[in-house]
Amino acid sequence: MLDTQVLIVGAGPVGLTLAVDLGLRGVRCMLVEQKEAPQFLPKMERCNARTMEIFRRMGLADRIRAAGLPAHCPMDVFIVTSIVEPPLLHLPYPSVAEAKKEIAASTDASMPLEPYQLISQYTLEPLLKSVAEKLPSVTVRYGTEFLDFTENPDSVTARLRRGDKTVEITALYLAGCDGGASPIRKQLGIGLKGEGNILELRQALYRCDALYGRIPIGKGRHYHVADAQHTFLILQDSTRHFTLHAVVEQDSDMVAQFAKTIVMPLPFEMINCGVWRQNLLIADRYGSGSRVFLAGDAVHLVIPTGGLGMNTGCGDAIDLSWKLAATLAGWGGPNLLKSYEIERRQVGERNVAAARFASTGRRKWRSMWRPNIRDNTPEGAETRANLARVADVEQRKSNEMLGAELGYRYVSSPLIAAEGGQRADKAVDVVADEGPEHNFIDYVPSTYPGARLPHVWLEDGTAVQDRVGHGHGYTLLRFAGNRDVAALGRAFAAHGAPYGVLDLPDKRARDIYGYDLVLVRPDLHVVWRGNALPDDPARLAALATGH
Ligand SMILES: Cc1cc2nc3c(=O)[nH]c(=O)nc-3n(C[C@H](O)[C@H](O)[C@H](O)COP(=O)(O)OP(=O)(O)OC[C@H]3O[C@@H](n4cnc5c(N)ncnc54)[C@H](O)[C@@H]3O)c2cc1C
Repeated sequence: MLDTQVLIVGAGPVGLTLAVDLGLRGVRCMLVEQKEAPQFLPKMERCNARTMEIFRRMGLADRIRAAGLPAHCPMDVFIVTSIVEPPLLHLPYPSVAEAKKEIAASTDASMPLEPYQLISQYTLEPLLKSVAEKLPSVTVRYGTEFLDFTENPDSVTARLRRGDKTVEITALYLAGCDGGASPIRKQLGIGLKGEGNILELRQALYRCDALYGRIPIGKGRHYHVADAQHTFLILQDSTRHFTLHAVVEQDSDMVAQFAKTIVMPLPFEMINCGVWRQNLLIADRYGSGSRVFLAGDAVHLVIPTGGLGMNTGCGDAIDLSWKLAATLAGWGGPNLLKSYEIERRQVGERNVAAARFASTGRRKWRSMWRPNIRDNTPEGAETRANLARVADVEQRKSNEMLGAELGYRYVSSPLIAAEGGQRADKAVDVVADEGPEHNFIDYVPSTYPGARLPHVWLEDGTAVQDRVGHGHGYTLLRFAGNRDVAALGRAFAAHGAPYGVLDLPDKRARDIYGYDLVLVRPDLHVVWRGNALPDDPARLAALATGH
């Protein structure tokens, strides 16, 4: 007997995002988590712009901003010898309030609809948990450990331990959002490729109420100390909490390290401390190939430089979510779930490479450190100048990867009508990719099939992305009202797939998107574009819906 449609293991940010999105789509799911409750442990703190666009579509962006760092706080990054001396390098980045103004004034498609948001993982998880718990089709069970599973031809049965009881839950699909040590990935025998255990650091969380107001060199979110211990002070969302990363011998050393970093004699408390290791790893596969799927840190482990850990995982979650929902609703064809690994593993690979690019940059400027860095001598001054010069190029790589965040597109996906290599006798086909280059830093807006639909303001002040609501299925954006598109509607209807035409008689948006017709999927990725329907609309609808 079926207990639920989707069993999700792991209530980290990825499992929670998946549960909420499935719940919003009316899918019955159960989320199980071994911890008794969300923990006050530091990990990620920055949702990138794409993740905030995703949360906006889920109706959560404002709540997340209200719980996160206040909108007026600068997001600047400093490289310092100490936080009370003039910085070696100061990289200013707009506060959320400033970024929102820039976005409101933007007239091209180069900016996201939502800016980033600093919110600590220990704030985000309880918030998402409370949202998930209110959704009628979602059951949330903390204090429940996943033990193992059996995959059957038409279901998956998992054994779970709750207290001293073992129970079995049968679902149609199993989603392993169970983190870097993923027991589900291990049971599937899926290996991780890349570099593991690159560097071991300690991270501690502190409360220091007076520090933020007293930092004399300027307010920011990251303070990298140019020292031999790789010390790195990170502001958390309350402005009263901070984390510190450093290479030190033992946990107790992190008390002295914080005192040394803040210099000023301020009272503080170290709340917890732990070891973490830097990895750049990607899983060979993203699931069993039929009923078990893996997402988030279970399949990609990056150095958090550049913040592509949870953010990549949230992208996995929403890609998997609509495909599961469509398959369960009966209109999704077999390629829909097959495409999950094809689409998301390439993003995982690119983001592992982007994290390597960013962390190599950081290592480069840190390699300029010399023991004389604080000396008041010409040699000391030269060390400082050299480090600042290299950091001015290399540190930016960590903070300015808008290309990786927004510019990802799905290549060679069976759901995307590739351009360029189409065969003459077929309107659409999945063929070799000739699309725009992937770029970690620069975001080049594009409606090339597979890309995220760029954000464009319409003349009436609304955003195109908002006009395509979260619950919508496929949407054909029509910028020229006289194009006859009825055949595509009939073709989607033949699959029972939700579809609609959105007429947008807006010249600027048409010019930016470059085509009269742009077909987008429920996750706002472009399936196809053109100035008239393809010769065989039925083939396009079949491809889009995974048939
Ligand atoms: C210091 C640091 C800073 C970071 N900063 C950023 C950042 O700014 N931006 C960013 O995007 N990422 C950042 N990351 C990475 C980010 O924290 C992770 O990518 C993110 O937590 C992954 O989410 P997840 O849900 O996939 O996995 P996890 O958060 O690891 O959650 C997995 C969950 O599964 C549960 N689980 C595991 N096994 C079982 C089982 N057998 N039964 C039941 N439950 C189980 C675990 O208890 C856990 O709650 C940072 C990481 C670190 C270490």
